[in-house]
Amino acid sequence: MPQPQTLPDTPVMRQYQELKALYPEAILFFRLGDFYEMFAEDARDASPLLGLVLTSRQGAPMCGVPAHNSQHYIAKLLKAGRKVAVAEQMEEPGLGKKLVRRSVTRLITPGTVIEDELLEPSSANFLAAIELDVVGWGAACLDVSTSEFWATQALNDRDCRKLIDLLARLGPAEVVASPAAAARLKLKEILPAKACLTPWEIAPAPTRKDWAQNPVWANHPLALKAAQLAAQYVQKTQFHLTDVLSPLYRESGSEMQLDETAIRTLELVESADGEKKRSLWGLLDSCQTPMGSRKLKSWLLHPSTDVAEIALRQNSVEELLANPEARTGLARLLREIADLPRVSSRLSTRQASPRNLGALRHSLSQLPAMEARLSQILFTSGLAVLAAKLKDLAARLAPCRETLARALADHPPARLSDGQLIREGYHEELDELRSLKTDSHGHLSRLEASERQATGIGSLKAGYNSIFGYYFEVTKAHQDKIPARYTRKQTLTNAERYITPELKELENKILGAEDKILRLEARLFEALRGEVLKYHDQILAFAQLLAELDVFQSLAQSAAIHDFVKPQVDLSHDLDISEGRHPVLCALLASGTFVPNSLRLDGRDPQIMILTGPNMSGKSTFLRQNALIALLAQIGSFVPAKSAKIGLVDKILTRIGAQDALTQGASTFMVEMTETSHILRTATSRSLLILDEVGRGTSTFDGISIAWAVIEHLHAAYKSDAEGPRGPKVLFATHYFELTELGREREGIVNANVEAKEWTGAEGRSELVFLHKISPGPADRSYGIQVAALAGLPASLLTRAREILTFLENESAAGRLTGAQTPGRAPELPLFTGHPVLEALRLINPENMTPLEALSALSELKKRI
Ligand code: ADP
Ligand code: MG
Repeated sequence: MPQPQTLPDTPVMRQYQELKALYPEAILFFRLGDFYEMFAEDARDASPLLGLVLTSRQGAPMCGVPAHNSQHYIAKLLKAGRKVAVAEQMEEPGLGKKLVRRSVTRLITPGTVIEDELLEPSSANFLAAIELDVVGWGAACLDVSTSEFWATQALNDRDCRKLIDLLARLGPAEVVASPAAAARLKLKEILPAKACLTPWEIAPAPTRKDWAQNPVWANHPLALKAAQLAAQYVQKTQFHLTDVLSPLYRESGSEMQLDETAIRTLELVESADGEKKRSLWGLLDSCQTPMGSRKLKSWLLHPSTDVAEIALRQNSVEELLANPEARTGLARLLREIADLPRVSSRLSTRQASPRNLGALRHSLSQLPAMEARLSQILFTSGLAVLAAKLKDLAARLAPCRETLARALADHPPARLSDGQLIREGYHEELDELRSLKTDSHGHLSRLEASERQATGIGSLKAGYNSIFGYYFEVTKAHQDKIPARYTRKQTLTNAERYITPELKELENKILGAEDKILRLEARLFEALRGEVLKYHDQILAFAQLLAELDVFQSLAQSAAIHDFVKPQVDLSHDLDISEGRHPVLCALLASGTFVPNSLRLDGRDPQIMILTGPNMSGKSTFLRQNALIALLAQIGSFVPAKSAKIGLVDKILTRIGAQDALTQGASTFMVEMTETSHILRTATSRSLLILDEVGRGTSTFDGISIAWAVIEHLHAAYKSDAEGPRGPKVLFATHYFELTELGREREGIVNANVEAKEWTGAEGRSELVFLHKISPGPADRSYGIQVAALAGLPASLLTRAREILTFLENESAAGRLTGAQTPGRAPELPLFTGHPVLEALRLINPENMTPLEALSALSELKKRI
């Protein structure tokens, strides 16, 4: 990257340019005294992001942040997807000295941060690495802050759809890929907006021995390559990290697949406004530890497809639900536990603080109580296994806990240099030095007393300041009594300060002891850190168990608060939900206002439900609530319903019609169709499809035709003699009333509608009341005009609209669908052919017309009859 010409040619600026050249893609924080300064391009890029005023230094643009408060600014730059290289002064600047040596001590990238201040406690911070070749892709996922590390791969993944879905699930902070792979995958376009893309070429290197020994990697070379890429990147950029853990291989088939749209529109971990609060995760998260919150989030994004595992989790939730006292007791203990994976990761770096050790000690000290609590209850479920494992780990961690209890002071300081971190009685030499130091203070007061006597100056007093060290202070009134062995050091307004040879000797002793204490404490801290690091793996395993326990108590808590029931999860194809509720909406609405609704599909008869009803009646809500119930069941949670039977679902695939998704911005009809085609290709007979207003993004007749064909396609898997499911279970919401024809004609397709009642309100006006109640059969009509009335359109316009509607209905009734359609035969759609007026109607897109245009089109049509 050519350096801009604007930088002045001075020694400091030359040094700046040298460092900057090493990290061209990062923003360089260049330490100048108490500030980190940014220059040239960096200053121009950063100043708007940080809200700083751009100044100039000899013509070069510059801005800076105070060093003591830099984390806050670094966080902002990371959020904006930038990296920060921190260049420190490597020596004390002396008076008139030559240029101070500086070097980059830290490269902070969004995917590799470990600083608490820069991390979101309840979310993992993933670095993803992607490898690509002709047959498929490999992806690795690493959270440096918690040591989570795994890799996966997929072959023959057309369009890399699975990769896109994976990335949507992970929400990585940073993605590393070779420039070629990034270009081929168009990573810039498909990455979630928050992720930062880092081009990085893997350097040829032998596979690490411990990895090479694991046979799983021989069978998954692309996953291995991605893991190596991630490890190399982290090792090359994070100088402080000693080692990267071994990755696990993660099979993508063992969990429910969720497409990107499902994650977003079901509002699993954030609601449409990007907040956790009104998401499913936000509703369910009563976890007491950050590890628990992160695990719950991960379960929501990776529901299980293992019936046995699900049953085990359900039973754990059930036991804690049945035992509220144990539950609250555990919650209270869990609340005391620190973010152990992150504490432990920080301890493995040089940025570790005595407080990190303190947090670890405090967490480990909860173990005996927790064990006692768990052993009070006779668990029969997975909790029994969990409790046994916890007990085992507690025993193995006991020496670590005891060491910390013995070694660490009650209130360890935030910084090593603050001292006072080691407990009395832990280290003999330290204790001696400390008593020497306190004793020296005694010496000082004794010396002060004897000098008072020798000089006869009763007001003589000893003191200390950082420039002259220890001194005796004598007021001006007694100047004539000062003996010759006193040397004057400082004059104040009405006193003088002196030193004596005895005082100097004492000073050396005291300062020497202090210095020795600090150095010894630092050494002991290092030793403790090393000791604790030996337990890193056990601490991580312990944290995993606690996280699970935390999720169970949280799910039990939610089940209790929100009145959830235990669903039956099995290998059938049923989706049988009685009086289901939308968990989030139901909790938001005033108690008793949400109207529960039931659903029964079995993949065969009924396989597909076509749901009609006016806008705002509750179609989308019903679709989503059923998907959420299936998903909740498969993470092991209880569900918001009166009862539920869920045959294992392998994928939840959703498509929300373009108009409904408009708030998301980029939605176009093309995207809608691409995604629909993806759904049609990948759905299996175990999949649950949520199709909401598909076909809405184009003109009415186009839309109806496409929606019609999509349903037919999904239904076509039907073989009359076959047993078992016909195809994926489909919930199809539409305001195209015409589609209900399919439900009338075809076995396996049913119609349902959301009821609305027309009332004659006050002043004799007709009003529409939404009952939100789903009932069998098609909707009477689409109620569009009533909704328009609700929205307050002028009465004259509405009357005219009713006239037009009647006209159109009469026209189309003339050629309405008649006779039974046999399955498999393409339906004849007289709506779309025949009368020239109907042909003309087909070309009209009412959604793009103003009422005036609609009226003139109408009179035009009338002329042509
Ligand atoms: P549609 O998709 O039919 O336009 P929505 O599902 O978006 O309708 O629902 C519109 C609004 O109706 C929701 O925001 C909610 O406030 C309310 N609603 C939907 N379903 C229910 C229900 N079962 N009980 C109570 N209110 C509901
Ligand atoms: Mg809707």
